[in-house]
Amino acid sequence: MTPNIARVALPVPLDKQFDYLIKPGQTPVVGGRVKVPFGRQHLVGIVMAISTESEWPVDQLKPLNSVLDGEPLWPSSLFNLLCWASRYYQYPLGDTLANAMPTLLRKGREASPASLKVWQLTPAGYDQPLSALTRAPRQVQVLNALRQGEVSHDALLAEDISAATLKTLSEKGWIFASEQQPAAADWAAHFAVTEEKPKLNEEQALAIASVNANPDFACYLLEGVTGSGKTEVYLNLLEPVLAAGKQALILVPEIGLTPQTINRFKRRFNVPLETIHSGLNDTERLSAWLAGRDNQAGIIIGTRSALFTPFANLGIIIVDEEHDASYKQQDSLRYHARDLAVMRASQGNIPIILGSATPALETLHNAKSGKYHHLHLTRRAGHAQSARHGVLDVKGLYLEAGLSAPLIAQMRKHLTAGNQVMLFLNRRGYAPAVMCHECGWLAECKRCDAYYTYHQQSGELRCHHCATQRPVMPQCGNCGSTQLHAVGVGTEQLEQQLATLFPDYKTVRIDRDSTRRKGSLENYLEAIRRNEYQILIGTQMLAKGHHFPDVTLVALIDVDSALFSNDFRASERLAQLFIQVAGRAGRASKPGEVILQTHHPEHALLQALLYKGYDQFATSALQERKQAWLPPYTYLALLRAEAHENHQVEQFLQQIRGIFEASPVFNQDTQVMGPNPAPLARRAGRYRWQLLIQAPSRKALQQLLSLAKPAIGLLPLSKKIRWSIDVEPQDL
Ligand code: ADP
Ligand code: ZN
Ligand code: ZN
Repeated sequence: MTPNIARVALPVPLDKQFDYLIKPGQTPVVGGRVKVPFGRQHLVGIVMAISTESEWPVDQLKPLNSVLDGEPLWPSSLFNLLCWASRYYQYPLGDTLANAMPTLLRKGREASPASLKVWQLTPAGYDQPLSALTRAPRQVQVLNALRQGEVSHDALLAEDISAATLKTLSEKGWIFASEQQPAAADWAAHFAVTEEKPKLNEEQALAIASVNANPDFACYLLEGVTGSGKTEVYLNLLEPVLAAGKQALILVPEIGLTPQTINRFKRRFNVPLETIHSGLNDTERLSAWLAGRDNQAGIIIGTRSALFTPFANLGIIIVDEEHDASYKQQDSLRYHARDLAVMRASQGNIPIILGSATPALETLHNAKSGKYHHLHLTRRAGHAQSARHGVLDVKGLYLEAGLSAPLIAQMRKHLTAGNQVMLFLNRRGYAPAVMCHECGWLAECKRCDAYYTYHQQSGELRCHHCATQRPVMPQCGNCGSTQLHAVGVGTEQLEQQLATLFPDYKTVRIDRDSTRRKGSLENYLEAIRRNEYQILIGTQMLAKGHHFPDVTLVALIDVDSALFSNDFRASERLAQLFIQVAGRAGRASKPGEVILQTHHPEHALLQALLYKGYDQFATSALQERKQAWLPPYTYLALLRAEAHENHQVEQFLQQIRGIFEASPVFNQDTQVMGPNPAPLARRAGRYRWQLLIQAPSRKALQQLLSLAKPAIGLLPLSKKIRWSIDVEPQDL
């Protein structure tokens, strides 16, 4: 019997595949796309198997509409990785595969480069005497150009020829158009290093030799402060890979994809380079994806999703700033691009390098336990000095918009010396709450369990959790008093206060509110470099990937909120921010200074960080994690659920807890915690609860979840309640 049934994964939120009949003449392939009828719509799905039988009566199966690909979309190793990711992150296979495709492929577009429209002369066109056309100079120009050979449509338009002129000529029967595939270029044949390389220092040479000694899969942690020469190491590692005709993938955090970074790779090699990031339109995204697959790009630099690019011949993966939180996707397929990159390297048997000045505790643990090789760069190139730093105990001090008098004095000193000052505060808006001075009433979002943030610039109250906004009320909602005051400090208020304190200096605020417009972040950063602003205020956004040599004072305004957060990763993030800014403040001729304002200067982690460095901080923090049974010593999954009926959500999670506890793989090493109200217990009118599942290994966690998930889907409440599973969540 000939196999005539295709099993298809469709982009629907269901953990199953669908069978369709293959019509005579159709030749679907496993891993390729097909278009199928589904209910009243038509969907693009991926063929997972071709078979002679179905669980369903064959005469009830519908036929495929059409076959879109004659070859699999992904090389088999990447296809297998995507299937693995679907299982590991508990996300339906069809949706996972759709997530990994450029939008245009999801919509059914052909998976080949856009063809080129090219114009040529007809024999009649050749024979036209140009002298007869003196009144139509544009037509003469075209005929003349085409006498030298064919010319593309776009090239003619670029010469100011209008589409109408071409149409007229073709209607006269003098020229005709054809579609051609762009010629494939063989970049490897002309590979060259196109700039002079600096002489490596010993540590760099050692790091490079360690990686080159072994061409197979291995994971390397390259730990080195900013400016220690990590990028130079990446460039040196790429060289033999590219010279051998293999491609390189470089992942960078969302905010790290700067022209400076891209240019360093472009300057070094004459290799076609593509970038993949959120700023691309659908056509550009498909084109970059195809350039990877068809070996038309030697280097691809991109953010998180670039990991899903197919490559003809991938030789190395680099994950820069591997600790960065933007590598974790926070919705749909909740994958961690760094972790999947390690899997991808392992399946492709190629080396992978994770670079950071402040490695994630998970990564450090893997390095310390010998799973990853640990490479160090300890010296800062260019003889820059490390910044001085100190804690500023603000207990009992009067704070003006969050600033203590000693900090203000210090700022004045640096500003008078002609330098820039950078202040960090991880809270947007003017004030995190508005309070009545008479009765203490607080303006609260009606739909969330949260206070409104006051945004003075727009004169609005905004809820940062559901995006509700409303004008500021004139009176207290409880006693009617007009004495409403902002409480607490956000970046907007800090900005305003600084204008009063330092009227002679210009202040700029970099946060999500001030950089909403495309390109505005780049413009601000440029203006800062030109010293148009002297005081820079920012959230974490400002710290990443930017170097401002004239910034000599950096202050973290509110360290305590991170030290005493209920998210166990908050102190790790604080430490990373601190090292990042300390590494970037000042330069050789202008040493920098970092100040941390806190009420708890004696805090053990803070002490370790400040006086013994990131490694000691990490060692202490890892010890705490071990004692508390937290990652990387255990593996977590967070089951979130939300609905309008509070008790239903809790009840639903109770039932799920029951499913886990009854599971044959549940034992004394596994735990379910909750149901507990989520940190934000109500959002946009929905009550939110969560359940935390803990297991001793990835494998145990996956078994537990895979067995429980179908049973959860059978609970009647699962249809009424919005729920999701986040495997290895980054934010609790
Ligand atoms: P990182 O990526 O760790 O921040 P970079 O590779 O960007 O560090 O290096 C910082 C600066 O030092 C760059 O300007 C780089 O060109 C320069 N540099 C790196 N390695 C060397 C070296 N061995 N000799 C001279 N300059 C170097
Ligand atoms: Zn709200
Ligand atoms: Zn009141």
